[in-house]
Amino acid sequence: MSGCTLTCCGGVDNATGANFLLKTPRGKLLVDCGLVQGSRVAQEENRDAFSYDPKEIPVLLITHAHMDHIGRIPKLVREGFEGVIYSTEETRDLATVMLADAQNLIAREARESGRTPIYEKEDVARALSLWKVVTYHQTLDVVPGISAFWKDAGHILGSAIIEIAVDPGTGADGKVGKPFRIAFTGDLGNSPTPLLRDTEYVNDADYMVIESVYGDRNHEPKAERDEKFARILKESLRAGGTVLIPAFSLERTQVMLYKLNNLVEAGELPKVPVYMDSPLGSRVTEIYRRHVKDFNIETQKVIAGGDDIFDFAGLRIVEDAQASAQIHSVPGAKIIIAGSGMSVGGRVLAHERVYLSDPKATVVLVGFQVPGSIGRRIEEKSSNIVIDGQRVKVRCRIEKVGGYSSHKDSNGLVDFVAHAMPRLKKVFVAMGENKSSTFLAQRMNGELGANAVVPEKNVEYPL
Ligand SMILES: [Zn+2]
Repeated sequence: MSGCTLTCCGGVDNATGANFLLKTPRGKLLVDCGLVQGSRVAQEENRDAFSYDPKEIPVLLITHAHMDHIGRIPKLVREGFEGVIYSTEETRDLATVMLADAQNLIAREARESGRTPIYEKEDVARALSLWKVVTYHQTLDVVPGISAFWKDAGHILGSAIIEIAVDPGTGADGKVGKPFRIAFTGDLGNSPTPLLRDTEYVNDADYMVIESVYGDRNHEPKAERDEKFARILKESLRAGGTVLIPAFSLERTQVMLYKLNNLVEAGELPKVPVYMDSPLGSRVTEIYRRHVKDFNIETQKVIAGGDDIFDFAGLRIVEDAQASAQIHSVPGAKIIIAGSGMSVGGRVLAHERVYLSDPKATVVLVGFQVPGSIGRRIEEKSSNIVIDGQRVKVRCRIEKVGGYSSHKDSNGLVDFVAHAMPRLKKVFVAMGENKSSTFLAQRMNGELGANAVVPEKNVEYPL
């Protein structure tokens, strides 16, 4: 025993709310501090006190800028955290717009429920003032005896696997602990992806905390996803229908723009207006444009050849809410991309109120839908869906293109761990629904001879 422990304070039995505490005799740190998400932007659990004292945490390392990994940082700061936050520059830039947007939504939910918000604007500003940036492949000494190294996770812009090297020093029992390495995968990209570089492998870790969002499922083959996506669009548009694509503002919206850019410029789609109805999506797209160096080589070549991959004939960026509502009066075929991706708030809800009951319309789901969300009810083809208190009868066509997921599937996750064998002593399978984590852990144990466990929340595991 090294005298070191890992505690999963969030991100177990749930794909969201990632929050991990690493303790050594010489110091401690947190990895990620995400929001628990479901049917609301901020689920009730987010009000719970942290299981540690935020004042005593000197360092928080961030894998990537999705809300389920950063969304409780302002709460951590509000409750006394005064340490340093480290992430890639891309993650910091994205977190700036993501947290501002979340704070608005949280303020609205609080007003509607008559309760105090879990954090306010000044907490977000304070969190950003504590933030420092690192580059991929930079070794950073974070606290005595602990250094961190960021690898490209290929999941969203700026996403990282954080490998942490620990030299425990002398424990309370007077024994000198053996140095070890632990890798926190954050979320792992579904490589190869349209925009980003492939996920880097981990091959020298003793422990790993891995995500398992798709631990029990495989995506459809990548060759099929583009063909299926194009076919659905063509069929729906030729029939004069509206295609509604609920998309996460971060990554999925940019991938959708790039795919539509290619289809439109290849002349494969009827000439119809494409509305990008996501103010947050627009801000995120601008950040993507600033970090072309993070794209894969093929995409960098396309951009170097003069194509603006996020712009094409027919694309209309919808700025204000009034313009958003006017889309419904545009007759005929059209495409609307709007957030949020799981229909938890955002402009997509107003479109769903209109188009879910339109037999000519098609809703194309291109991402994970968390249980309890309206997106999940659409995915399950419920016949009635209540949106903002109004019952909507579902008559539209519903299609799913799972291949655009930004997460590795079950086979991809097993392959990722296979690269880290045989050195791995233990794999903590987290960040997934329990059935998904359990299935993945069983696969890793059965197929790789790994020692994979599904950790319990707030239990200290010795390392
Ligand atoms: Zn993510």
